[in-house]
Amino acid sequence: MQVRTQHDGLDNYLTDASNMCGGHAEKLFVPESASDIPEILRGANASRTPVTVSGARTGTVGGAIPFGGYIISLEKLNKIKKIDKRTMTAVVEPGVILADFQKAVDSEGLFYPPDPTEWSCQIGGTVATNASGARSFKYGATRNYVNALKVVLADGSFVELSRGQAISVNGEPIKLRTTSRHFEIKIPTYTRPKVRKNVSGFFTSQPMDAVDLFIGSEGTLGVITEIELSLLPKGEGFFSGIVFFERNNDLLAFVDETKQVSFASRAERTTPSAMTPTPRSSRKAGSHCLDASLIEYFDDRALNFIREKFPETPSEMAGAIFFEQETTASNEDELLEYWNALLEKHTANLESSWFTTTDRDREKMRAFRHALPVSVNERVVRNKQKKIGTDMAVPDETFPGFLKFQKEMLNASGIDYVIFGHIGDCHLHANLLPKNDEEAARSRHLYGRFVAQAIMLGGCVSAEHGIGKLKRKYLDAMMGERYLNEMAAIKKVLDPSGILGVGNIFDPKYLL
Ligand SMILES: Cc1cc2nc3c(=O)[nH]c(=O)nc-3n(C[C@H](O)[C@H](O)[C@H](O)COP(=O)(O)OP(=O)(O)OC[C@H]3O[C@@H](n4cnc5c(N)ncnc54)[C@H](O)[C@@H]3O)c2cc1C
Repeated sequence: MQVRTQHDGLDNYLTDASNMCGGHAEKLFVPESASDIPEILRGANASRTPVTVSGARTGTVGGAIPFGGYIISLEKLNKIKKIDKRTMTAVVEPGVILADFQKAVDSEGLFYPPDPTEWSCQIGGTVATNASGARSFKYGATRNYVNALKVVLADGSFVELSRGQAISVNGEPIKLRTTSRHFEIKIPTYTRPKVRKNVSGFFTSQPMDAVDLFIGSEGTLGVITEIELSLLPKGEGFFSGIVFFERNNDLLAFVDETKQVSFASRAERTTPSAMTPTPRSSRKAGSHCLDASLIEYFDDRALNFIREKFPETPSEMAGAIFFEQETTASNEDELLEYWNALLEKHTANLESSWFTTTDRDREKMRAFRHALPVSVNERVVRNKQKKIGTDMAVPDETFPGFLKFQKEMLNASGIDYVIFGHIGDCHLHANLLPKNDEEAARSRHLYGRFVAQAIMLGGCVSAEHGIGKLKRKYLDAMMGERYLNEMAAIKKVLDPSGILGVGNIFDPKYLL
């Protein structure tokens, strides 16, 4: 196992995509096997040395940035141990890069849906943050695909968790057994907001599976060393489009109808009546199989921004939607017709829009979408400012008002900004781009107003990026002391010395 100290240069391990400054650490451990990890943790636990788990450091909230102590980097635990076509499952080490896994799965004719647009992240990082991204509109977040985990706890003991094995029913504590101890974990009593995505603090539900506690725990409860994932069959074909709209109301109406029809298609597939399909003559062509897998939004400013990298982006548009639909040879023509009718109905600017059914052009569309957060991060660095990007989700019925509220406040502020993201899930990223400290202070104030509004509407403060070190005070505002204490109680059972992921999720006062 490689061990490095400050003198060997740890700089690469002291930052992530949050642009948060001041990270420092005494030592870096790069284990080559999961069996190296217990000893590191036993030593750290005995000396109460903080330990930060480092994935690929693509996180945007400083979760992997250490402020003292040890770093454990999982980059060498990067084996895909098994892809089983029969059971449609895979077993991976945490350091496997998502892009490599996607490729391997694809070559077996299978499909792994989580797509946090930044494919250089590690699978372990995506589990630790319950990452989601574009395709979550249809497929949900990483949590939906995790069957089992192996985790090393702060005292160095191993715990193996398979779905269905340790479950809390009726609020009973979860009983966990590790290689050396027994634990009882009280399940938090809060109800989660009625939003389509939420990674604000520890998960809870009734019944509650122990696997779900570790997913999204942001390196605070244990080091994830092995993951079993479930996979889906690879789709036959697809139809993707980036469509431009001259009027925002048309764009929002298009999104609304696309969502409603997609939900109706899914409901029909999962109810018994799906066994006896509605006669073709009595339904709208294609409506029963129109089912968008992703619906992504770019506002007018995002389009202006992205034009620097993609000059072919049309100007004078109010915004654009990137959508994707899975197809089969038998329904492709019907679906294309239906999408066309829907776009015409909502007066999309079809002449300037882009459509494809080929892998090559789909990659270009993905690159177009990905160029935006990347360019935002570059601009933030160029302006020598910290990223101020929202990650809230709100309930469906409150979404149009919330978007309008943000746009009006941002326009009035005179601060540069772009809004883009996962409109299908009522989850957008408003990225504020202050040019100086005065604008940065006003941006933070605006951010606080947006958080307050999202909470008031019944939303969450983080839908996919997590809380990390940067969004703790917003989690406080959303959850309040009582529920943060309930989460902290879990942390204290699993990590009594409080060494793991120090600074993530919790203000230190909750862990005293
Ligand atoms: C341009 C860009 C676009 C992005 N778009 C999206 C998006 O659309 N959706 C989305 O969900 N995210 C998005 N992200 C965020 C990011 O990609 C995810 O948060 C990713 O899942 C983090 O993985 P990582 O390996 O980089 O983890 P890191 O950043 O290294 O770590 C993240 C957290 O997980 C912990 N951790 C990592 N590995 C383990 C482990 N094995 N055991 C325990 N804890 C661990 C760390 O301690 C830290 O708290 C984006 C990021 C960028 C830069």
